Amino acid sequence: MVKIGARLKARKDGDQMVLKPRTDVGFGQRAVELPKQIEMHIGQFLCPFCLHAGTIGSFLIQLKKGFSSSRGRCPECDNGFMLESLTKRMTPEQFAQWVYEYPFYYYWKKCAWLLFNQRLKKIGWSYRFWKAYKACKEEDRGESYEEHMMKEQEEWARERGYI
Ligand SMILES: [Zn+2]
Repeated sequence: MVKIGARLKARKDGDQMVLKPRTDVGFGQRAVELPKQIEMHIGQFLCPFCLHAGTIGSFLIQLKKGFSSSRGRCPECDNGFMLESLTKRMTPEQFAQWVYEYPFYYYWKKCAWLLFNQRLKKIGWSYRFWKAYKACKEEDRGESYEEHMMKEQEEWARERGYI
């Protein structure tokens, strides 16, 4: 009787793990549900700072009880951002405006510049992005904006002794 009882109990516990997972301690991935507003998003998303491409799950921040429903983090460059910024479908022009409106100083310091530029070219956004970005900026410095940003980024790196 004892043996059977123990076996039944084990089976019951086993069932419970599946049917009623305890999210506070976590029994693997199935215990944690995606936040309602983002669970419908499938496919690839681009990190707004380095353009790393990944599924929504790779950008989620694990909290004690599930995932953050408002903030995400890039697994590659480790920058944090609002999930809304990640999942919003943007044209190159809208993205340029988003970058421009992001507190300037901070965006370009967070941005993995060379990688960002390479990937921007790869997805065919370079021309439209920089054109729109330049349009956001009223002044024309007489050099392409890409060149200008390259210089600024270099200056910043030099200041910190990176190069
Ligand atoms: Zn990134």
